[in-house]
Amino acid sequence: MDYSTIVDVFDAMEATTKRTELTDLIVRLLKSTPRELIDKVVYLMLGRLRPEYEGIELGIADKMALRALAISSGLDMKRVEELYVKTGDIGDAAEEALSRRLQSVLFKDKLTVERVYSTLEKIAMLKGEGSQDAKIRYICNLLNDAEPREGKYILKIITSRLRLGVADYTILDALALAFTESKENREILERAYNLTSDLGLVARTIALDGLDAVKAIRIELFRPIRPMLAERVSSAEEALERMGGRCAAEYKLDGERLQIHKHGNNVKIFSRRLEDITSHYPDAINAIITCIKVDVIVEGEAVAINQDTQEYLPFQELMHRRRKYGIEEAMREYPIALHLFDTLYINGNECIDLPYVERRRMLEGLVKSSSDSIVSVVPMLIVSDAKSMEDYMFKAINEGCEGLMIKDLKSPYRAGARGYAWIKLKREYRSELADTLDLVIVGAFHGRGRRVGRYGALLLASYNREDDTFYTVCKVGTGFTDEELERFYSMLNPYMIKHRHARVNSKLDADVWFEPRIVIEVIASEITLSPLHTCAMNAIREGNGLALRFPKFTGRVRDDKSAEDATSVDEIISMYRRQLKVTRQVQASTEEDVGSVG
Ligand code: AMP
Repeated sequence: MDYSTIVDVFDAMEATTKRTELTDLIVRLLKSTPRELIDKVVYLMLGRLRPEYEGIELGIADKMALRALAISSGLDMKRVEELYVKTGDIGDAAEEALSRRLQSVLFKDKLTVERVYSTLEKIAMLKGEGSQDAKIRYICNLLNDAEPREGKYILKIITSRLRLGVADYTILDALALAFTESKENREILERAYNLTSDLGLVARTIALDGLDAVKAIRIELFRPIRPMLAERVSSAEEALERMGGRCAAEYKLDGERLQIHKHGNNVKIFSRRLEDITSHYPDAINAIITCIKVDVIVEGEAVAINQDTQEYLPFQELMHRRRKYGIEEAMREYPIALHLFDTLYINGNECIDLPYVERRRMLEGLVKSSSDSIVSVVPMLIVSDAKSMEDYMFKAINEGCEGLMIKDLKSPYRAGARGYAWIKLKREYRSELADTLDLVIVGAFHGRGRRVGRYGALLLASYNREDDTFYTVCKVGTGFTDEELERFYSMLNPYMIKHRHARVNSKLDADVWFEPRIVIEVIASEITLSPLHTCAMNAIREGNGLALRFPKFTGRVRDDKSAEDATSVDEIISMYRRQLKVTRQVQASTEEDVGSVG
């Protein structure tokens, strides 16, 4: 397959501001791709070579990429660097440099997708001494045969700057349309994706072996499963009602979610975002090997603790574990407790379709923990009245938890899905929003006064899964320290794009637009109707959306969440409804008070 074919589509994808066009472009590309190449094209479209969990990074530094560009274009390094500064984009710099190529290469071989992919694979595998030069040689080898536009995407991919911003769900839609002619089958593809976290694998299976083969895909050890997620409600009564009057209440700990795969003494740990974080938790691995004797996939929350008092510490303490070196030291200084809350696979058998009670019983049977072990099963109580649920919640909060996770006793483990089978219950919701929201940065406004040269405010959006679109919900400019503003500037820089992203719906015209990637936590005084923001537009009132009033950054960047994990439009609608209910109740009781005084 000619590499130029996918380059044409990438160009069109970058240019479009329409979400539907994005899907159409991908469908056409998938249809014109030879079937045995389909997984590679899917990975390239995502700017990767393999599924994310394998952690294979091209990770070429800008300097090295520019050096290869200089060699291949015949321009000197200074000139190439100037082009980069002028265009502000490494891909555009490559396109310009290659179109000014001094020596014309007479015998160019046409680039194919196969060759580009296998060369990139070789680059990713090179390690250690001498690898730098070899990498540059490989890059030049591609660039020498590349048309300027082709070179643009090679440089974008190797520096991890391909920003087509296609979501996994867009690709699933496109796969269903391309290979089954119907979006209806997306659910089947989505199930397979949720169990494997590998879009390339799903694409390859549907393209080569058809829908039945996709249906037959199962959980495998060391391939992460997309996590089940929770909805939230405002009161114990509501939680109980949704659960049909009887449910499990588990402590909700504030740490890091771990998905642990164990085969004999071989253990791997994946984060909530499915990155391989095995190296962060040698202590958890040892403890798991000691207290679970069979092959399993289990999930739990790791929490930092004060070893002297056994108290839980805020999740930030776990950040010390995110390092390459000195992990032994971090382990000693920042010990953890690991509370397991689910089991998805035991000794070759999937457990996800079993009801919660069954899985919980199996989990309790699996863990042979001693009193000095850091591993235990999360505390749980079966409740059937709101008062006991609340009492248990206060107990949990007193012990340093965030609140409770309420779980449906009959529910299977719904991989990759957010729903009411799991419900977060934090503290009582008041008319002031007590809970935080996790929102995606989609744009920014230039700062004035003290903030000149930095962003003055960020444009934040919520996510709507149905149409795979981000809808704006507020501009936030408070809660940032000067250092944080600096940090945001450099953190957002790689995601800057030339126009509003095709998956972003906004009435406001930001000064700068970003690919929706970074999620931050904000708190606000309330949710109000607003004609300026597109979140829940027309859902409550014609011509109005919902917006946050007095939003404030809490200081927490949710790098454990992907943009699609952000607070959803539906959640914001129900938070708004809940707030109305509480406000009315407060009003009614004040009126009563006033009445009785009068
Ligand atoms: P949130 O991140 O606010 O959406 O809350 C969901 C997260 O709570 C999960 O992803 C887990 O990391 C965490 N969590 C803490 N305790 C539990 C529990 N008992 N069951 C499930 N998740 C839990």
